[in-house]
Amino acid sequence: VRNIAVLAVTVFTLMFSLLFLYIVSKRDRELSMRQASFLANVTHELKTPLAVMQAAGENLADGRVTTPERLQSYGEHIFTESMRLRKMIEKLLDVARTEAGQLTLKPMLLQPDSLVKDHLHEQQGFLNQNNVELDLHIEDDIPKINVDQNSFETILGNLIENAVKYSQNEKYLGIHVYSNQKKVFIEVEDRGTGIPAESQKLIFEKFYRVEDTLTARTKGHGLGLSIVKNLTERNGGQISLSSTYGKGSTFTISFPIAANATFSKQHRPKQN
Ligand code: ADP
Repeated sequence: VRNIAVLAVTVFTLMFSLLFLYIVSKRDRELSMRQASFLANVTHELKTPLAVMQAAGENLADGRVTTPERLQSYGEHIFTESMRLRKMIEKLLDVARTEAGQLTLKPMLLQPDSLVKDHLHEQQGFLNQNNVELDLHIEDDIPKINVDQNSFETILGNLIENAVKYSQNEKYLGIHVYSNQKKVFIEVEDRGTGIPAESQKLIFEKFYRVEDTLTARTKGHGLGLSIVKNLTERNGGQISLSSTYGKGSTFTISFPIAANATFSKQHRPKQN
């Protein structure tokens, strides 16, 4: 009986180890496949705007562009493409810095409602261009949080960009800022494609993109949400997702109320 028990334990351990190895190597394989397709995409994305700018620059230098209208259109082309390139490079640098732990955070006592309003004001052009219906709700007396302002802007910027990017017909953007006794919450809601249940735990991983037609048609590299999660957590916050495929998604970020924040009566934590 003892021998059988030992054998059973050995077989079980062996099977468990094999299963573990299989899962780990499957994950590695998936990650390296994602990395390879990311590299191909990035190469393409970096080369395309460069080629456009190079051709435009060449034509301008040769004096082949003479009319004011064409000059303006060349200028606009170079501007748009250089902005595209800049965004791409910034995203890559963000990932590289966060991975290397070299991103220096400067946490400060900040008012989340003002941060959100200022950010939306800056994004007004992008929201108008995309005909986005903005639905903004900010509760009264939102307490301060202790976060790095650049991180906050990157987080919110990525979530808003995705909400717009992954919405087809109804470009709705709901932003809701509220708090409880301990935390401030910022919800970013859209009525876009939504995320399939099986992808929801994967979308915060680097390079992961949902395999559907809208994502395939949308520019992206699967980096935004990994940066968002990383920055949220490094700033002491958390991120959660609630999404129904075909209906839309709500990403919620939360940060602890700063210990030294001034509370209104409504948010003063109970004294024990
Ligand atoms: P990117 O948008 O550059 O591909 P992200 O890391 O920001 O990278 O997002 C990862 C994937 O998650 C996207 O490719 C997309 O499939 C999915 N996704 C992210 N945000 C949304 C959203 N608001 N609605 C639907 N799908 C989303």
